[in-house]
Amino acid sequence: FMTERGVKWDGRLLKLGGHSEPRVLVSIGDGAGLLNALWTHMKTLKNLETGLHTKADEIILDKDGKVEGLEVRQDYYFDTPETDDLQNKTGTKKLIRAKQGVIFATGGYSRDKVFRSIEVPFLAGVATTTNPGATSGALKTMVRAGAQPMHLSLFRFAYPLPTEDMIWGVIVDPATGKRFMSEGATRNALAQTVLLRRMQNGDKKPFIIYDEKSLAKFHNLNRVQRSLNGLNGIDGTMTKFNSVEEAAKAFGADPAIVKNTVDAYNQAIKEGKDPEFNKPLERSGRKVESLDFSAGVYAMPVNPRLNYTPGGIRTDLKARALSMETGKPIEGLFVVGEASGGLHGQERMTGCSMPECAVFGLIAGETVADRPKQ
Ligand SMILES: Cc1cc2nc3c(=O)[nH]c(=O)nc-3n(C[C@H](O)[C@H](O)[C@H](O)COP(=O)(O)OP(=O)(O)OC[C@H]3O[C@@H](n4cnc5c(N)ncnc54)[C@H](O)[C@@H]3O)c2cc1C
Repeated sequence: FMTERGVKWDGRLLKLGGHSEPRVLVSIGDGAGLLNALWTHMKTLKNLETGLHTKADEIILDKDGKVEGLEVRQDYYFDTPETDDLQNKTGTKKLIRAKQGVIFATGGYSRDKVFRSIEVPFLAGVATTTNPGATSGALKTMVRAGAQPMHLSLFRFAYPLPTEDMIWGVIVDPATGKRFMSEGATRNALAQTVLLRRMQNGDKKPFIIYDEKSLAKFHNLNRVQRSLNGLNGIDGTMTKFNSVEEAAKAFGADPAIVKNTVDAYNQAIKEGKDPEFNKPLERSGRKVESLDFSAGVYAMPVNPRLNYTPGGIRTDLKARALSMETGKPIEGLFVVGEASGGLHGQERMTGCSMPECAVFGLIAGETVADRPKQ
């Protein structure tokens, strides 16, 4: 479906976080490449009307609980992200009748610090790089229409560089100058350990050290390049240093202790073990090797960012929203993508949101198209 609509793939099939087999296709241009191709294709469709900057506020139900339409605000801009739903009163109200159904593809709520920290208090201060519309408003709208929310206390972190590629480096706590965890941990375990450490060390951000050879092992070299060029968002810039001591100093750590930490790490890896944290010494057929700084030392902060909220509305296999009261579909209401909840369980595997969005988007579209017009 995507290839027919102009998406181009870079030809690799990768095994990434949580996958038992290689399953991940990478689109050229990453996520933007994928979406731009679909958007360009969409503009060629003749029977499609789009209404940008239109916020769905309420779902209108008839007396039997069937979806009749939406109350929206046009000319709406998400411009106060963390409190947008409460404070943003802009836009012009309009009612839209739904002929065959309403599909919510309204994404997650990573921006809403108050909402997310009620479920998971340690998320209160965590940064996010999601879009300004990632508020909890749409979720609340669907709940008001009777839909069941689920998995709101789950979370998923991301980093400026791929989590899978942390394994090639050494993560150091600037407060102690020492390692404190396995760099090969899963993304949520990594984030929780880093955030806990920051709660204990006076909120100092840990940093990761690489050599040039380990950078070449990254599965996404674009992201490394963006980091080196200072174009990789909050705490995403990687800096090249002449020595480990120089890097340590830049991150507020004791240079001599960090040098010892890195030397001890290198020695252990040369001996084929990691007695301190038992990190796996192989990933996707590539070996973890000791770091060789003859071509420079590369370092950057490790700052987990909340970039996906697994919680959302409970749906069935036809993407129909299920009622909190009866557990049955709310007639005419469909939810797809990050706005839905429960598909991935405790920890979503790398690269699996886009397939979810695409597959359930198609299913919802087909299901709605088959419904009689009202
Ligand atoms: C930095 C980053 C990297 C990622 N990398 C990957 C990856 O490599 N692979 C992968 O599979 N996933 C990745 N993800 C996750 C994935 O991108 C998202 O889960 C996915 O894009 C969600 O798509 P969606 O269509 O469900 O929602 P979104 O793309 O979030 O779109 C929802 C839209 O609805 C709008 N909206 C919100 N409320 C309302 C309302 N009430 N009325 C009308 N409109 C509303 C929002 O403004 C937004 O435009 C990444 C996410 C981030 C932030």
